[in-house]
Amino acid sequence: MRIIERVTEMQQQAESWRREGRRIALVPTMGYLHEGHLTLMREARNHGDEIVVSIFVNPTQFGPGEDFERYPRDMARDELLAGEVGVTVVFAPSVREMYPDGYQTFVEVMEVTRPLCGRSRPVHFRGVTTVVAKLFNIVKPDAAVFGEKDFQQLTVIRRMVDDLNMDVQIIGHPIVREEDGLAMSSRNAYLTGSQRGAALSLSRALGEAERMVHGGERRGAVILDAVRSQLGSEGELRIDYAELRDPDTLENVTEIRGPTLLALAAFVGQTRLIDNRVLPG
Ligand code: AMP
Repeated sequence: MRIIERVTEMQQQAESWRREGRRIALVPTMGYLHEGHLTLMREARNHGDEIVVSIFVNPTQFGPGEDFERYPRDMARDELLAGEVGVTVVFAPSVREMYPDGYQTFVEVMEVTRPLCGRSRPVHFRGVTTVVAKLFNIVKPDAAVFGEKDFQQLTVIRRMVDDLNMDVQIIGHPIVREEDGLAMSSRNAYLTGSQRGAALSLSRALGEAERMVHGGERRGAVILDAVRSQLGSEGELRIDYAELRDPDTLENVTEIRGPTLLALAAFVGQTRLIDNRVLPG
């Protein structure tokens, strides 16, 4: 496995693979890898001959006062884990390499970035689409794998790829969870023991909502009430949003008529966690 830190070196490697007819699959990450990331890398092996994992904590997707500086980092461990799952190249550029002096270009997707995380984190998706567009130009992937953990992000990226005619196949992968249901996240490292207990109510609330739909409940307001009271019973947890949305357009849903996204975000202490489930129609 090779570590590449320079944009031009990555582009040359990608170009030479492409000339040889090798398919490239990319998994973009911010590092501090966990089993969720590793599962995406294994999935990537089904879509490419050469697997590139980018590790880059992207400053443009963090707002003022968010956790950019303290976001967990452990490059040595990440390299080891990526090597073990058969990654060919870890692309780990510096911030300066990606955003040199004079940088001033951004990619912005409109409607689907407005609700949910876009409302709480106004600059977030602009940073995500910008860095992902840059990574596509640098790594030239045939396919790129993203987790449904960040469901809105996946929707936004599909939109960008369609709208800008980017020639890359976007693969979504289901959420990978701990045995007790907590969605894996690098930010789980921030949680104390009792906060981790409180965080579990996110996946519990999703399960409860699914049971209600299986039991015939179709009224969005009734489902969201149950979800909010489940989350509200945790003293250490503050709801950011709990919403029902169309999984394709992210438009608001008031009555369950088909597969419906239940998307949750909450602060547990200072840590903002997200989780979601597509409820059956
Ligand atoms: P991050 O490093 O948090 O930016 O995540 C990098 C990629 O891994 C994104 O496509 C995430 O959606 C995905 N990811 C993170 N956590 C999980 C998880 N628990 N299950 C599936 N995918 C995940």
